[in-house]
Amino acid sequence: MGSISLQNVNKSFGEVQVIPDISLEINDGEFVVFVGPSGCGKSTLLRLIAGLEDTTNGRILLDGQDMTDAPPARRGLAMVFQSYALYPHMSVRDNIAFPLKMAKASKEVIDQKVEYAARTLNLSDYLDRRPRALSGGQRQRVAIGRAIVREPKAFLFDEPLSNLDAALRVNMRLEITELHQQLQTTMIYVTHDQVEAMTMADRIVVLNAGNVEQFGTPLELYRTPANRFVAGFIGSPK
Ligand code: ADP
Ligand code: MG
Repeated sequence: MGSISLQNVNKSFGEVQVIPDISLEINDGEFVVFVGPSGCGKSTLLRLIAGLEDTTNGRILLDGQDMTDAPPARRGLAMVFQSYALYPHMSVRDNIAFPLKMAKASKEVIDQKVEYAARTLNLSDYLDRRPRALSGGQRQRVAIGRAIVREPKAFLFDEPLSNLDAALRVNMRLEITELHQQLQTTMIYVTHDQVEAMTMADRIVVLNAGNVEQFGTPLELYRTPANRFVAGFIGSPK
C-alpha cells in the first residue's frame, strides 16, 4: 500500500513562503510526476513527503495514517538520489545492502534482498565491482537498488537522470517505468523536463511558484490545459 495525501500543506523558510497551500491525493501504485521550472518547489514538496523538511502547516498522510510529524525512517518511503550519492569505497553489493545493514537485518535476509534487487535491475554480474567501474546508467541502477531492498511504500525520485547524457536518459526513463510496472509500487518522480513527465507519468502535477496549476493525466494536460502556463509548459496548442 502506498497512498499519499497532502492536506493544505504549506512551507515557509523564514519569511519566504515557498509552498502556499497544496492539497493532493496520490493513489496507491500510481506513477506521479512533479514537473515545473527550476525553483518552483518540486524538491521541497518531495522532501516534505519524505520527512526531510518539516511542514509549516498542513497534514501529510501515508496510507491514511497521519505522518506529518514522523521522522523519515518511520515513513516507509525511499528517496532515490542521483548516482553520485553512492559510496565509492564500497562494492555494488555493499552499496545496495547499506540500508539493510543499518537496520541490522540478518545476512540471509540481506543476501536474498540484494540478489532480488540485482536481478530486477540487471546488476547481478556487477555486485563485486566498485561504482567507478560502472557506467552512468549502472550507477543509477545501484542507487535504485538501494531503495528496492527497503521495500518502500513509495519511491521518491528527485531528478535522478539529470547527470546522464541524452541517450542514456531515454533508456533510464524506460527502465524506471518498467520497474514501476513490475513492482506496482507508488512512485513520485520530480523533473523539470516536460518530455520526461509526459512519457513517464500516470498523472502529472504541474507546479509553478509553489502552486499546483493542474493535476491530471498527460492526455488531459495536453487536451485541456487549465491555463496558459500549463499549455506553454506542456507545449499544447492553447
Ligand atoms: P525546485 O526543486 O523546483 O528547483 P526547490 O524546492 O529546490 O525548487 O526550491 C524552491 C524555492 O525554495 C527556491 O526559491 C529555493 O531557493 C527555496 N529553498 C529551498 N530550500 C531552501 C532552504 N533550505 N532555505 C531557504 N530557501 C530554500
Ligand atoms: Mg529541485
